[in-house]
Amino acid sequence: MQIARHIYSTHIEEDPATFGAMHPGGTQIYFVGDPSERMVVVDSGEPYRSWARQILAYHAELGRPRISAILITHGHGDHIGGLDRLQESFDCEVRCHPRLEPRLTHQLGPGVVRGLAEQETVDTGGDVALRAWHTPGHEDDHISYHLPDDGAVFSGDTILGNSSSSVRNLKQYMESLETLARLNPGILCPGHGQVIRNGAARIAWYARHRNEREGQVLAALAGGAGTVDEIVAAVYPRDLADNLRGAAARNVRTHLQKLVEEGRATESSAAYDLAADGGGR
Ligand SMILES: [Zn+2]
Repeated sequence: MQIARHIYSTHIEEDPATFGAMHPGGTQIYFVGDPSERMVVVDSGEPYRSWARQILAYHAELGRPRISAILITHGHGDHIGGLDRLQESFDCEVRCHPRLEPRLTHQLGPGVVRGLAEQETVDTGGDVALRAWHTPGHEDDHISYHLPDDGAVFSGDTILGNSSSSVRNLKQYMESLETLARLNPGILCPGHGQVIRNGAARIAWYARHRNEREGQVLAALAGGAGTVDEIVAAVYPRDLADNLRGAAARNVRTHLQKLVEEGRATESSAAYDLAADGGGR
């Protein structure tokens, strides 16, 4: 379906019984540019034949525009899995974060993959261009793509349509949210879930949510909680479902890692505590 002047998407439903549980709202593969001229594709989906078939059928529905490049948001399997089949069909370049370039070159062969420098632009056809912004946090090799002409950002897994994102490095992630906020997008086109029409507000909500959680973790440390389990018990509801407890613990660990990186908490072998000088804050 058409999302904005230069943006089209095919939405891939997922079986909630399998990995659909990991991707609430399914997966979006975007075509950007002018269907009567040429376009680029954002991400390639899982390595399943049925997914590639759906993406190629949508390309046919758009009138088979020439595809000049597949742009990758990050190197997780659900974003690069379809590359083999799609790159061969489109006979196009693949652009990605420089950190991901060696791995994809190994997969696709020499001369196909080119890294994208920070703020490098990619011509999409239709007289518009995307600009690459390095947005680490969900993953080291994450890029978000800004299409100023449509006021849109392709946010990969940094911002999702139907859920909050998993974060590997929270300090980098919060900086990446600031980068996206400065772009002030009207539309966010996430890797999974529904397109977001109040983009800037959603970015602010994501940042606020993480800051509130950080405040709760700091309060738990100040109140004497010292282990991840104790902090989870202090911060999360007492009746938290067992299957969410692991995710809660992971989330608390990313907050602690950020506070340690910032010198606001210290870590000993098994426990965390507030830094003696409060990290200067
Ligand atoms: Zn993903």
